[in-house]
Amino acid sequence: MRSQLLIITQKLAELGLNKGTAGNSSVRSGDGFLVTPSGMNVEDMTPQSMVQMAFDGSYEANKIPSSEWRFHRDILADRPEINAVIHTHSMFATTMACLHKDIPPFHYMIAVTGGDTIRCAPYALFGTQVLSDHALAALYHSKACLLANHGMIALGRDLDDALAVTVEMENLCEQYWRILQIEPNPPLLTEQEMSEVFQQFKGYGKWAI
Ligand code: 13P
Ligand code: ZN
Repeated sequence: MRSQLLIITQKLAELGLNKGTAGNSSVRSGDGFLVTPSGMNVEDMTPQSMVQMAFDGSYEANKIPSSEWRFHRDILADRPEINAVIHTHSMFATTMACLHKDIPPFHYMIAVTGGDTIRCAPYALFGTQVLSDHALAALYHSKACLLANHGMIALGRDLDDALAVTVEMENLCEQYWRILQIEPNPPLLTEQEMSEVFQQFKGYGKWAI
């Protein structure tokens, strides 16, 4: 599990979704979860750098967990169907987050997040319980949200699923950003059209719900 978390962290860097020490990830493990270390470059991480935490906030000796361990802990505690959490400062999601923009159903792929709108959580200082509370509310019935003036969070039933949601989320934010250059009020799918998309996704490959 430690190696898998490292591989996902490396993939996020390779895909350009996280740079430097930005972002963090976690995966459910044993009675608690593993989370990436705080403030460490991915090139310096080994499987042993990953920090095992308990839901009471205690963690392995001589290690410093991600400063965002609270939202990783709170999401995993609140959502039994979710086993992995990815946080990025990826370019287009962060651009939308800095504009405080929700992502509406301008494209049917919004449905991979489980809802018809990706919400943007209000701004709060990084590493705080307030940020975690805002994130949890914005993630209600959804596998993705934006964090105002900060970045995004994507959830998955495992690390690969969370990475797939992250990649799609970034793609949607880039598409929406491009669309907004041309048309500030683009045509949106209706509630009925989105409910048909959810039906269609029920048996569709890796996104099957
Ligand atoms: P950490 O290095 O502590 O995980 O912080 C990075 C980050 O993205 C804070 O929001
Ligand atoms: Zn961050």
